Amino acid sequence: MTNFFDPKLLSKYDTSGPRYTSYPTAVEFKESFDRRDLERENKLRAAEPLSVYIHIPFCHSLCYYCGCNKIVTRHSSKADIYLDYLEIEISQRAKTFGSRPVHQLHLGGGTPSFLSAKQLTRLMTMLKKHFVFSLNIEMSIEIDPRKVELELAVELAKMGFNRLSIGVQDTNENVQRAINREQSTEFISLFVQQAEQAGFESINVDLIYGLPHQTKEIFSKTLFDVTKELDPDRISLFSYAHMPVIFPSQRKIRDGWLPSSDEKLALMKLGIETLTRHGYELIGMDHFAKPDDELARAQREGKLHRNFQGYTTHGEYDLLGFGTSAISSIGRVYSQNTKSLTDYYRRLDEYGNAVDKGKRLSFDDLIRRQVIKEIMCNLYLDKKVIERLFDIRFDDYFSYELVSLSPFIHDGLVTNNRENIRVSPEARLLVRNICMSFDAYLKNHIQQKRFSRVI
Ligand code: SF4
Repeated sequence: MTNFFDPKLLSKYDTSGPRYTSYPTAVEFKESFDRRDLERENKLRAAEPLSVYIHIPFCHSLCYYCGCNKIVTRHSSKADIYLDYLEIEISQRAKTFGSRPVHQLHLGGGTPSFLSAKQLTRLMTMLKKHFVFSLNIEMSIEIDPRKVELELAVELAKMGFNRLSIGVQDTNENVQRAINREQSTEFISLFVQQAEQAGFESINVDLIYGLPHQTKEIFSKTLFDVTKELDPDRISLFSYAHMPVIFPSQRKIRDGWLPSSDEKLALMKLGIETLTRHGYELIGMDHFAKPDDELARAQREGKLHRNFQGYTTHGEYDLLGFGTSAISSIGRVYSQNTKSLTDYYRRLDEYGNAVDKGKRLSFDDLIRRQVIKEIMCNLYLDKKVIERLFDIRFDDYFSYELVSLSPFIHDGLVTNNRENIRVSPEARLLVRNICMSFDAYLKNHIQQKRFSRVI
C-alpha cells in the first residue's frame, strides 16, 4: 500500500493548522459583519437547494476530551425551552429562506439524542411547517449511545432519518474511564442492527486515536470490535488534540497518560492500515468508507466536497444553521450564531435572530476557497478551471504561494506544472499543510496556535 508514514516527513510537517472545513476559517468571522448580507446574498440564490444544520448543545455528561460547544445538564426540560427559541429562529429565517428546497438535514451537537423522541418529533414538525423537504432528502443525526433506548432507531427512521453517526472513540474500559465516556459496545452493536433493520442507509462510527492509555494492542481490539461487530458504512478516524489551555475539561487528562508522538503516529498507522485492509477506502485525510458508499464513489469521481461536518457528497449546497454556535454559509457570506445559550435567548427575544459574527468573502477569499477545497477533496487542482472561473493567470496570481510549495515539491510530495498541481498519495495526510500555502490569513503565527496539530 501507499506509504503515508515516512516518520521524517510527518514530523517535519507536523505543525498546527486549520482543518479547512471552511475558508476563511471561523476565527476570521467578525462582529462588525453586516447582518443583512445573508439576506442580500440569498436573493441571488433563491431557487437553489439548502442544507440545514441544527445544533443541540446539551449533553448528559462531560467527555473530558471534548472541544465542542456544549452544556452538561440532567434536566431534559431545558431542551423544551431551547426548542421554543429554535422555533422563533426557524420561523424568522423561513421568511427569507423558506422557499428553497431542503436536500439535506443534519442534527449535531452537543448531543442531538439528548432530545426525547417527543422533543425530536416536535423539532421535525416545526421544521416541516416552515421548510419544504425534498423527497429524497438526506437526514442525519449524531447519537450518544449511553443514554438512548434501542427503540429510538425505529422512531428516528419513522421521522425520516436515514443516516446516523455514533461516537465510539475507543471500546477499551480503561480508556473510556480516563475520558469519562463509559459505554457498552454490545449495546452499540444492537443499536446499529436495529437501525439497519429500520432502514437506515448509512451508519458512521467516530473513532479517536491518541487518547489516554491507548496502546497498539488496545486500539487494535477497538478496530477489531468496530469492523467485526459494528461493520459501519463509514468510519471517521480523528486525532485527539490535547489543548487543555483552550478546553479546560482536558485538564482532567494527565499528560503522562497520553501516548508519545511516536506512539500516536503508530496508532494512526495501525488505524489506517487495519481499516484499508478490511476493505474501507480512505476518504480525504481522516474518513473511511466502504467502496459502494456514496462518499467513496464521490471521491473516485472527483466530486467530493467539504463542509463544517467534514467530507461530504453535497458540500455545494448553501448551509443554513440554527441554534447556538451554528454556522450558515450562503454564497459568499458566512455567519455564526452566538455560542452562549443565554445570549442566544436574549438575541432571539430582542432581534429575532442570534447572529453574532460573520464574514463576506472578498474576491481573493473566493479564489482561495476554491483552490483549498479542490486540493483538500481531490488532491488535485486544474489551474485552467480556476483561471476560467475567476479570470486570473494562476501562476501570476499565486507566484508567492507557488514558491512556498517548494519544500513539498523538493520532498516529492507535490508536483506543479503549467496545467495543474497534484498532491502525491504519499502526502495525503499532509494535505492540510499543503493548503496552508494558499491561506492568506495564516501569516499571523500567533493565531496558528488556535488550531490543532496536523498529526
Ligand atoms: S463528546 Fe459529545 S457527548 Fe461528549 S461532551 Fe462532547 S458533545 Fe457531549
